[in-house]
Amino acid sequence: MKSPYSVLTVLFFCTLPMVSAFASPTAQPSADKIQTPSQFLGFEVGADRKLADYHQIVAYFKYLASKSPRIQVENMGQTTLNNEFILAAISTKENLQNEAKYQEIARKLADPRGRSEQEVDGLVRDGKVILLVTCNIHSTEIGSSQMAMEWAQALVTAEDPETLRRLNNVILLLVPSLNPDGQIMVTEWYRKYVGTKYEGGRMPWLYHTYVGHDDNRDWYMLTQKETQAMTHAAYHEWFPQIWLDEHQMGSSGPRLFVPPYADPIANSVSPLMWRGINVIGSTMAWRLEQQHKPGVVYGYVYDQYWPGATEGTPQFKNIFGLLTEAASARIATPITLSPTELSGGGKGLIDYMKTANFPNPWNGGTWRLRDIMDYERIASDAILETATDHREDFLRGTQQMAMEQISDGKPDEFWRIHRDQRDPVSAAKLAHLLEQHGAEVMVSANGKDFLVPTAQPYGRFVGELLGRQRYPKVRVAVGQPPLRPYDVTAWTLPLLMGVDVTKEVLPAEESKGARKINDSDWPQGRVEGGSPVYAVSPQANSSTRVLNAALKTKHSVLIAKEGFTANGVNYAPGTLLLQPSNDLQQLAAKYHVVVRGLDPKPNVATTAVKEVRVGLYKPWNASMDEGWTRWLLEQYEFNLKNIDNKAMKVGNLNAAYDAIILPDMEKNVIVEGKPKPQDGNPAEYFEELPPEYTGGIGKEGVKALKDFVEAGGTLITLASSGELPIEEFNVPVRNVLAKVRPEEFSSPGSLLRINLDPHSPLAYGMPEEAAAFVNEPIAYQTSIPGADIERSVVAWYPTDSEDILLSGWINGADRLARRAAVVTLTYGKGKIALLGFRVQNRAQTEGTFKLLFNAIEWAGTEQ
Ligand SMILES: [Zn+2]
Repeated sequence: MKSPYSVLTVLFFCTLPMVSAFASPTAQPSADKIQTPSQFLGFEVGADRKLADYHQIVAYFKYLASKSPRIQVENMGQTTLNNEFILAAISTKENLQNEAKYQEIARKLADPRGRSEQEVDGLVRDGKVILLVTCNIHSTEIGSSQMAMEWAQALVTAEDPETLRRLNNVILLLVPSLNPDGQIMVTEWYRKYVGTKYEGGRMPWLYHTYVGHDDNRDWYMLTQKETQAMTHAAYHEWFPQIWLDEHQMGSSGPRLFVPPYADPIANSVSPLMWRGINVIGSTMAWRLEQQHKPGVVYGYVYDQYWPGATEGTPQFKNIFGLLTEAASARIATPITLSPTELSGGGKGLIDYMKTANFPNPWNGGTWRLRDIMDYERIASDAILETATDHREDFLRGTQQMAMEQISDGKPDEFWRIHRDQRDPVSAAKLAHLLEQHGAEVMVSANGKDFLVPTAQPYGRFVGELLGRQRYPKVRVAVGQPPLRPYDVTAWTLPLLMGVDVTKEVLPAEESKGARKINDSDWPQGRVEGGSPVYAVSPQANSSTRVLNAALKTKHSVLIAKEGFTANGVNYAPGTLLLQPSNDLQQLAAKYHVVVRGLDPKPNVATTAVKEVRVGLYKPWNASMDEGWTRWLLEQYEFNLKNIDNKAMKVGNLNAAYDAIILPDMEKNVIVEGKPKPQDGNPAEYFEELPPEYTGGIGKEGVKALKDFVEAGGTLITLASSGELPIEEFNVPVRNVLAKVRPEEFSSPGSLLRINLDPHSPLAYGMPEEAAAFVNEPIAYQTSIPGADIERSVVAWYPTDSEDILLSGWINGADRLARRAAVVTLTYGKGKIALLGFRVQNRAQTEGTFKLLFNAIEWAGTEQ
């Protein structure tokens, strides 16, 4: 760790950004004692081909905390791979000593209900701005994780009056990485290949074990440990007023994006939000220009319409949410760009030229990690400066926006989530999710309902998540089509989760005595009645957990093939019938289900089900859908293994698997390991991975899959991967939208109505109508097969195209009308399930998880 001090000092100060202009000319003794990151780590941080990994970053932050009273390091929890997930609070010693007091002020401003003007004035006068800066959620966007150490060091060692003024007004919460596991993976991969032809190239696996780049798509569903921990720190402990999330983008456009954002902006966010953000973004751009940093753009690409991103969700919760996007190098390897390679092409910068929002284009040349860190550092200092100068505006701004949301609601108006409904566990999950977000969620005095008041600081946010979306038609020029969405267009949780929610004005006696939700507010699992057989309704997703747990402990389980009535209770097709056993009570309690003893045994046709050995195909091009599917199936305790290209080529798959799942990806990626060139376009440059990670399953793999099904296996395809059996297996199904152009059909992540056949094994437990999350052009047309194949349509779109859209945006809905969405086939001795939309999209679509779970269970039953 020890290095020649003088040499490193020279190196470090040569590369320090302009911010050091504030440093006092007289050396400060306290500053001298604290080592810079370069001194501490023994190499020049930010230099070409050098990276500090997350372990080193944590070590450095802890070192700073051991040396300076201006920084405290808090562990927010464990990451997915059990690394420490840290947040550093940086401010004056006095502010940090009074952390609890300032958290309390921030909490009161965030929820100003019942506070007098005078009290609010006092809170604004006494409060500090809580500024949260999060770095490196996307692991290859590594610059900010390195910059964070230098910024922290500068702030805790500075003695100049300006820095001290800033620290006195602001408590900075600095999170050096929002995905520590991925930071470590990327650093290790980079170090392994530095000096080879693969230097700076992509990894063959996801940089978040389960969700990869989608770690920044999890901010309303909160499925992953990192999003949960950060959400808890933000909305239950610190209540920041400003949140900046630092990213990197592609290499050939502007050097840095700062707000103002591009259109469209969210309907339910206050205009004050954008005004405050614009002041900060403009100060960032101004400081960068003063320090001779060309290529800064605003009003470009990044819209703020969708509440799923790190900086986007907070905007719905009255927090000034900002995003910066720096141009990327090849991780820590510099790149050189010719002026001819620079391009606009995005919303807000069609041509790469001087424009009002891009007044000083970068002219090409070398771009390196150090440049990224310098730009980010200046932008970071500018936000600290603006937060200081406008301390009262930001504190009052949060309070004002909260009041707007409160006054949008009505005192007696509530979102009502009935606790006793089709899937009571998903209903409870929705209520707890809103509470995790920091929203106020109550339980009615009679215990029958969750009640979510509309008049609360996050009232519009709750309305956004529980209501329906309609994408705004923003046009950039007269006669042009509306702008396309950046991500998905629908996040209506009741539809996604299959939960009934109503908005009602309640008579006072109904809401009177309601209490806050707590951890025990889950359906009480229990066993009712006696043997000889016990029934579990298939309608709750948790019945799948019961089934898998029962099969693991060698229970014998039957599935009812039809509906039946017993003791006055109706049971749907797909009801689980379990034998008496000592652990039924335990299963019922753990999974929140009611297990009912039936005497006598119901007279109903049944089929035995056995545990299914599931193989999930995992390609070498880091499929997020593979990761999400793996996460979900692990949560539901399936017996799951990944299959790689090699195993697929070897064949003999029936020996190890009963069901094989192909995640959502085009056939070419599965077979060849790379996407097919678009029609009419020359093949794009495709950067190869090291040889052990290239290629796909090949012709041998396709044959092995076909043999697997013919010999009795079950193939399950998710969305696009249905292309493989359709093209290779000669089945009586085609995708009528396979060749459609985006102008003819587009559903960019919308919720669409489907009808289901509840007697089909794939639809067991589902309602006759559900919401399908559709983001790809897939609509199946089946035809009459020969005698050796049976096909059935499990789910289909309505006949009238007007009935199709439930939430979001769609163009060309008529092309879906009366087409199939889910199809099953028999094939040889085996089966194929084509799930033609995203049934488990980002683990958010609880309402259609059953289609995947049932497809797997189907593999474990006789036909
Ligand atoms: Zn990013």
